[in-house]
Amino acid sequence: MDFKEYITIIEDYPKEGVRFKDITTLMQNGPVYKQAIDEMTAFAANQDIDVVVGPEARGFVVGCPIAYSLEKAFVPVRKKGKLPRETVDADYGLEYGESSLSIHKDAILPGQNVLITDDLLATGGTVEATVKLVEELGGNVAGMAFMIELLYLNGRENLSQYDIFSLVAFE
Ligand code: IMP
Repeated sequence: MDFKEYITIIEDYPKEGVRFKDITTLMQNGPVYKQAIDEMTAFAANQDIDVVVGPEARGFVVGCPIAYSLEKAFVPVRKKGKLPRETVDADYGLEYGESSLSIHKDAILPGQNVLITDDLLATGGTVEATVKLVEELGGNVAGMAFMIELLYLNGRENLSQYDIFSLVAFE
């Protein structure tokens, strides 16, 4: 299936020069959304994973159904201050300024195998911060799955040691 047909590109959003990839139009089509998740799940099923981890909010949109269909745990990564119990945190760079992501301290046991999911891999900053959190808890990143990869932002460059799956790539 050509999933690109269902992804909408918005020019100059959220700022001039950016071509934003919007997956909500893909999700509006039930069978296409299911097919996309099924293909990501097939990758995940080969990774011998214990836990799926996804950063808010679109990491939940892809990670939760994968975890559900493999009967694996799902662990949310959230912006700092949103999780109610004790957390570990990781700072990461945004285009302008810094942000911080958090995970519950007891969410991953040492030695557990983790799949990291998100809707989109751009520069890789978000997923690198997520890796830091997982590894700080002693988890092992077994793979990463994205709906979309923006090849021109070279997110893979710093992630060469990980097994990365993306459903569609934009040049
Ligand atoms: P990165 O940290 O630069 O890899 O950016 C990836 C994060 O930003 C993901 O969590 C995405 O949800 C979000 N993001 C960046 N660009 C886009 C886009 O074009 N469409 C949707 N989300 C995006």
